[in-house]
Amino acid sequence: MSTIKTRTAIAREKIGLARSARPAKVPFYVILRFACQSRYSRPAAGIIAAVVFLLDALTSLDIAIAVLYVLVVLLSLNFATQTGLVVIGSGCIGLTVLGFLISHGDGLPALEDSLGRCFVSVAAIGITTLLAVRVKAAIAVLAESEQRYRTIFLTTGVGILQLDFTQLKAAVDKLKTAGVRDIDHARSMDLESPIGEPNTIRLINANDTALKMFNAADIIALETMLPKLINADVDNAWKFLAAVWSGKSSYEAETIIDDAQGRQMAVLYNVAFPANRPALDMVLLSIMDVTGRREAENQLHAARAELAHVARVATLGELTVSIAHELNQPLAAVVANGGAGLRWLQRDVPDLEKIQLSMEGMIADAHRASEIIKNLRALSAKSPPKSTHVNLNEILDETVALVRREIDIHQVSLQFHLATDLPGVNGDRVQLQQVILNLVLNAIQAMTHAAGNTRKLLIETFAEERAALVKIHDNGPGLTPETRTKLFSPFYTTKPDGMGMGLSICRSIVNAHGGSISASSKPGAGTIFEFTIPLVQGTG
Ligand code: ADP
Repeated sequence: MSTIKTRTAIAREKIGLARSARPAKVPFYVILRFACQSRYSRPAAGIIAAVVFLLDALTSLDIAIAVLYVLVVLLSLNFATQTGLVVIGSGCIGLTVLGFLISHGDGLPALEDSLGRCFVSVAAIGITTLLAVRVKAAIAVLAESEQRYRTIFLTTGVGILQLDFTQLKAAVDKLKTAGVRDIDHARSMDLESPIGEPNTIRLINANDTALKMFNAADIIALETMLPKLINADVDNAWKFLAAVWSGKSSYEAETIIDDAQGRQMAVLYNVAFPANRPALDMVLLSIMDVTGRREAENQLHAARAELAHVARVATLGELTVSIAHELNQPLAAVVANGGAGLRWLQRDVPDLEKIQLSMEGMIADAHRASEIIKNLRALSAKSPPKSTHVNLNEILDETVALVRREIDIHQVSLQFHLATDLPGVNGDRVQLQQVILNLVLNAIQAMTHAAGNTRKLLIETFAEERAALVKIHDNGPGLTPETRTKLFSPFYTTKPDGMGMGLSICRSIVNAHGGSISASSKPGAGTIFEFTIPLVQGTG
């Protein structure tokens, strides 16, 4: 079984020496406490039984001294089984009767009083024994249940931590009394999150799995890592505080943190706040290492992206071959008709009728070529947009959820400033998602070379007079003069594996919705992409 020590056990060990150095005082309650400790209970019970018996049998005190046998029964709770308790209780009753017989063998006066006291003692010992047997049974059930839960706690594959959030709760309450309305308000005031201040989150106990997961030597080492777990990304820390603030029953999140040896790992954790302890002094945190699973997912994701890229390139290649094939025929016919016409023209007497036929053939072939191009264009055009009433704030939320993993992996801090009064627009949900997805992915990619803790993505929406406006800011390198002019041109890319079609597709989609898209940037200070979608008539 485990050798984990709770904080109290460690503290006790630390002060052990100081305690033993104190001068010894031996008041009555100290003797009782010693007697109550299991290892002293047995001799203590024997001594008490002997003393009570001697006093009862050999003295003529006018009190029911034998009642004190109940102490013997109670001390026996520490070492005897249920049957043992019955035997000890019966023994005490036997000693009481024997004591009575010895002390009254010579026919002392007031026999009735003594008999009454003997009866009271026997009754008290009997009742105490009965109760002791029941208490013993209850203790056994409790111990079994305790053992069961302890085994689950220690051996489960999930890391379990018992935490004390009293200080954190106090810090949150302090903000409330200072007039802060809610967590968004606190955040907008640029207040420091209280997580991470000393002692705001105290670790009381942790199981083996948690210690192993974090490579932590003991719970004190593990405790220092907890704020990092919650502060791993700023958004998460504030969402966590919002859960504490609003008295939610639990909070769940996935994040990436370093263990004690600096190994990066992905963890999924759940914090269960107790409903019946408003002080939050007993919070359970369960945690799972999902690094392996996420790595497999990432590989799958990368393979899928690669496949999609290859498929796009292959489709493009096929399209080129089929365009060449389709156009080759009418163009060859144009050339043939042109050649024939020339030959008729070069005759001594040009055959005007034949020349006219050749020219008409050329025009017809040229029309055919143009028709083929038209058909190809119709073929390559996607299905027409399905226009519905949509809210861009919602679409932004949904789309960002799709790239949440990219955001986490690239350690990008994401902030939303969404207009609460943003009216709906008419649009194709999927196409608008494509636009946002592309702009967000471009922004993340643009920031890959910035230092991890400076990557910031800000997404804003504004309700303009006639349109909903979306702005996506990054703090990547910005746009070079060349990129600025070619940004929306098809096949323009500066990425080794880029297609250069993303922004040109974005522009087609936004334009098809009646809106416009543009980009601005200050070199070194990032780029802002913004696009508008006209408001639905009557809502603007
Ligand atoms: P791709 O992503 O395949 O290169 P895009 O059309 O989406 O195609 O982007 C074209 C080019 O525009 C990119 O290669 C990049 O040079 C530039 N670009 C796009 N977004 C940004 C941005 N946020 N910051 C800097 N450059 C950008």
